[in-house]
Amino acid sequence: MARLWHVDGMLGFESLNSQREEESMNTSMLHDIAIDKQLVSLAYQPIQWIPSGAVDTVEALLRLRMLDGRHMAPELFIAAAERSGQILELGLWAIRTVCLQLLTTDRVSVASVNVSPVQLNTPGFAASVEAILVETGVSGARLAFEITEGQKLEVQPVALQCIAELRRLGVAIWLDDFGTGYAGLSLLRQINFDVVKIDRSFLHASASQQGFVMLRNIVKLVNDHGPEVLLEGIECSEHLKLAKKLDVRMGQGFYIGVPSVPDFADRLHVGTIDSQDEYWTPQAKLS
Ligand code: C2E
Ligand code: MG
Ligand code: MG
Repeated sequence: MARLWHVDGMLGFESLNSQREEESMNTSMLHDIAIDKQLVSLAYQPIQWIPSGAVDTVEALLRLRMLDGRHMAPELFIAAAERSGQILELGLWAIRTVCLQLLTTDRVSVASVNVSPVQLNTPGFAASVEAILVETGVSGARLAFEITEGQKLEVQPVALQCIAELRRLGVAIWLDDFGTGYAGLSLLRQINFDVVKIDRSFLHASASQQGFVMLRNIVKLVNDHGPEVLLEGIECSEHLKLAKKLDVRMGQGFYIGVPSVPDFADRLHVGTIDSQDEYWTPQAKLS
């Protein structure tokens, strides 16, 4: 586990060993410093509509830059922000920024934003989203919220009500990383997702006959249930071919485009994103 620290204007993180140290972690600088000092930003990764090849949807991914210029892995600072509750402010910042940076323009049709279960379980979250839509003049139909199965969403009545209110605003609800947690099937039963994103581990294991059959069966299960299927982790032409073979209509992965800075969103619709535009990917994770 990691601790975020701030000394003499420097922001950094270090490994923590004990549970106690982890609990004593002070993450208040996540919004006090990071947002104020513009150390937080968004990268956008393209999502392809496979039948036409069009790329007019993106996923927004949070980035945290430390003052030494390095980026911290999102899993680290997002988990810390969830524990401290600061994910509420960080999450609203992300939604507002997506609206201002992308959705007030016609660069893309839809942007998906990851939302934490903490946000969905907080009364008033949907009202805050509505306020952002009103403020920015963006239609809710241009936003999708991704809920990660791996984060063990507890489907409390407040979360279900929140999802219903978001739907009334026109916001689509997607299930992220399907197959990685243990609640995926029960979530599918309880929530009418618009899109289900199948975790990249299934595509990456599909080279074996057993892995291929498993992927095919998961695609069929989701398709039969109703939501659109999106295959994550498309890293080469063979992966894209396999997606087409399985009649999967949405795809995302480094082969389609890496997460890139907003300026490059201009080029998303022509589908020519140069990998040198990328400024952080999991391969660049800090050790
Ligand atoms: P995610 O929502 O599943 O995001 C996709 C992650 O997979 C991204 O990592 C992306 O860079 C990576 N990825 C995309 N295509 C490929 C590929 O072809 N191969 C491989 N190996 N990886 C690929 P990233 O940016 O590190 O994000 C990690 C996680 O952090 C996200 O997973 C999401 O759960 C969380 N996250 C990011 N932004 C936010 C946010 O604004 N709010 C919340 N609550 N969570 C966020
Ligand atoms: Mg996601
Ligand atoms: Mg995902």
